[in-house]
Amino acid sequence: MIFGLLGRNGNRKDRLCRHCKEYIDTNTDNLMLVMLGKKGGRYFLYFHTGCLEPWTLEQKRKRAERLKERKGGRPTGSSVKDLREQSPELAAKREWLVRRQARLIRYILNSEDKEKIRKWKLEVEELRGQISEILPFQVKKPGRRTNASIEMLSRKTGWAVKPVGYKA
Ligand SMILES: [Zn+2]
Repeated sequence: MIFGLLGRNGNRKDRLCRHCKEYIDTNTDNLMLVMLGKKGGRYFLYFHTGCLEPWTLEQKRKRAERLKERKGGRPTGSSVKDLREQSPELAAKREWLVRRQARLIRYILNSEDKEKIRKWKLEVEELRGQISEILPFQVKKPGRRTNASIEMLSRKTGWAVKPVGYKA
């Protein structure tokens, strides 16, 4: 688990230690961690020299917990997970339908046969109906399908097969 760039400096300002939430004495060294944010920004965390080790340990433990809570790559609390707990049979059926739908969309993307594309498209529509009957709530995260293939799909069928959450 990588945290960021580490620096050790003489503390000049009143800074709170990220770990113990106590002020760091201005006459001592602090450890500074430069963290890279998801959008390319950076932010700084300060620690007592002795507080970095327990903090990293805690972060590692929290991360392991988060990973354990996730199943099938979806965050907890998603209704897919709820469904899996409440009705494993329905969840399995939905999963089968979703897979079948994904396969048909792949066929459409890879085919130039208009007649077949039309047939598959109808089946995908049918599947979409069945899937939303099982679970009307739609998962917000777009699928792994890229925007380029979505556009290609729309072009091919003249009908937008947009994964849920996709915003044109
Ligand atoms: Zn501390």
